[in-house]
Amino acid sequence: QEVLELLREEITELQYNRYIKQLVYDVKKSTSDMAIFYAPNALVLNWIKNKYTEKITHLFEIKSGNKVNVKITLKNLVAQKGKKQKSDQKPQHSLLNPSHTFDNFMVGGSNQFAYAAVKSVSEAAGEVYNPLFIYGGVGLGKTHLMQSAGNVFLNHGKSVIYTSVEQFLNDFIRHVRNKTMPSFQEKYRKCDVLLIDDVQFLSNKEGIQEEFFHTFEALKGAGKQIILTADKHPKKIGGLEKRLQSRFEWGLVADIQPPELETKIAIIKKKCEINKVKLSNDIINYIATVIESNVREIEGILSKLHAYSQLMHIEIDLAFTKNVLRDQLQENRANLTLDTITNSVAKDLNIKPTEIRSKGRSRNLVYARRVSIYLCRELTHNTMPQLAQYFGMKDHTAISHTIKKINELMKNDEDFRVKIEELTNKITSVS
Ligand code: ADP
Ligand code: MG
Repeated sequence: QEVLELLREEITELQYNRYIKQLVYDVKKSTSDMAIFYAPNALVLNWIKNKYTEKITHLFEIKSGNKVNVKITLKNLVAQKGKKQKSDQKPQHSLLNPSHTFDNFMVGGSNQFAYAAVKSVSEAAGEVYNPLFIYGGVGLGKTHLMQSAGNVFLNHGKSVIYTSVEQFLNDFIRHVRNKTMPSFQEKYRKCDVLLIDDVQFLSNKEGIQEEFFHTFEALKGAGKQIILTADKHPKKIGGLEKRLQSRFEWGLVADIQPPELETKIAIIKKKCEINKVKLSNDIINYIATVIESNVREIEGILSKLHAYSQLMHIEIDLAFTKNVLRDQLQENRANLTLDTITNSVAKDLNIKPTEIRSKGRSRNLVYARRVSIYLCRELTHNTMPQLAQYFGMKDHTAISHTIKKINELMKNDEDFRVKIEELTNKITSVS
């Protein structure tokens, strides 16, 4: 409390009241070299962690004369870790995030196959698909899905190990060094369920592949469930022993694709609900449209929006949202070119890209041209004269006229707006 009071003197009253005041110090679990604080939700947690951990650590040192490790976390995460430490023989599950559940996972066309596969494995461990291999791009929910199954198993009293390849490797090295390999093997071979994340990192690491192979064989032989994730199909992971690769494909290989617009909207709504953030539908649509596919990025934006609005005492409206997202968008779009945009529009409307930039006046072409101009203006930093030149128009007034027209349509024609949002979505997710 004294430390937080000290901090209060150094920051604004608003920041203190919005964030720091919500921290709860755990008197029981904290020790002379570890100070544990709880944040009420993930947004406050991220904000404080990024901005204040260093400061709090420093103030602790001033107050107590000790260098203290400051840990800020969500309450339920620590509770789970505490449990683990008491029953030491039980395999670890400390890294399972309790909010990674099936209920919190929004299902759409892009992920329903993987979802269904993980769900059925969670209902019949070891009996349906073993191993289950999930692959897909960054931030598409692989870890979330895998841990959802882990949480179900935990609730059924099964021993679950969740680990990344990196941790598995570190653990291995530590046991080799301490000459305690039998306990390493016992730990990984005695569990009921083994969840290994990001197995693409096994690539070109022969020693650990060998060890992993034997772990795999032992578990599989005993009918224990194994779930694996990677950023690509087993066949595409280079530097992987043939026998491992083929075993990864033994059960079921399921992919996760980037979410479609509706799924993104559902995810945003869910995250708002979980984190108690209120956003209007037009803002939700906007975020879903402009953010590509990475769901982790969407979460970052929600947290940024929330934090800014709290700090600056501003209602989150569309203009504010656009403002906050500007930097983010510029980064995402740095590599979008006029060609990629017109090509996508052409493909979508089934015409040739060269036709869009021709002088053709058929209805279809005019429509495609207008949409391309609008999207090029929205998604790149080209000036109106530059666009005029690209589209072969006399001068920038034709461009500005087109953009005005499209803006009007966007306002008055719901179907058209949806169409444009979908197109934007497509274009930004391929870049
Ligand atoms: P990956 O492991 O594929 O890189 P994660 O599982 O870590 O991705 O997901 C990134 C973030 O996005 C997580 O916070 C996760 O909860 C969230 N997320 C991803 N997909 C969904 C979804 N379909 N529904 C709800 N949240 C999702
Ligand atoms: Mg992951």
